[in-house]
Amino acid sequence: MWVIDIRHWLNETMSGPAVPRLRLKVKKLGEIIAYATSRKCGVGTDSAPKCWRRPGRKPCAGTLDIGLDTSTNRIFWRCPVCEDEGVVCGWEGLIWDMSDISSDVYQ
Ligand SMILES: [Zn+2]
Repeated sequence: MWVIDIRHWLNETMSGPAVPRLRLKVKKLGEIIAYATSRKCGVGTDSAPKCWRRPGRKPCAGTLDIGLDTSTNRIFWRCPVCEDEGVVCGWEGLIWDMSDISSDVYQ
């Protein structure tokens, strides 16, 4: 299983990619994190992010299945079409972490 600590991919402000070639990956992971964390705290969201893979050089048409394991704070995704899957951690407190909305009073 592919486990990513997104902080390793970010610049020093923790809001963008560390290097230009990570730009698309960081953008997609940001969408996944925002989706998973906003669902967790009950905020209405748009539909789940689309798969970004290009199997056979054609864009995959899948919509990602995304979940949040609250015991480990790992967010996982899986594409039902191309079966790409992965896990991301290290997202807590980043700009994509929508769960901060409900804990603002503690900051
Ligand atoms: Zn796919």
